[in-house]
Amino acid sequence: MKGLKRGDIKKCCGCGRGVMHGGGLMLFRLSAEQHLIDPSAVHRAAGLEAMISPALAAVMGPDEDLTRGIAQQRDALVCQECATTRPLLELMGSAGAEAEEEEGG
Ligand SMILES: [Zn+2]
Repeated sequence: MKGLKRGDIKKCCGCGRGVMHGGGLMLFRLSAEQHLIDPSAVHRAAGLEAMISPALAAVMGPDEDLTRGIAQQRDALVCQECATTRPLLELMGSAGAEAEEEEGG
């Protein structure tokens, strides 16, 4: 795992202050994806597995996406104080998620 350089350091996405503001020597870099489950695709996959076995379904099935990615957040930095006092997903939400382009097909 590579270290962060000066250009990589951003303000804490929780409190908006520098990541060393409290004197803490630890920071966290977070990445997360948000997915929406497609119940129809899950039912089709489960039905095929029930009919011909999970092993065969994995090889012979259409292997379609069971979820659709709807947002992602990359490289949100969180200071030690916020990471230990606030829910991490809430912090990432406050940093603003990037909408992901849906692939065609
Ligand atoms: Zn913070």
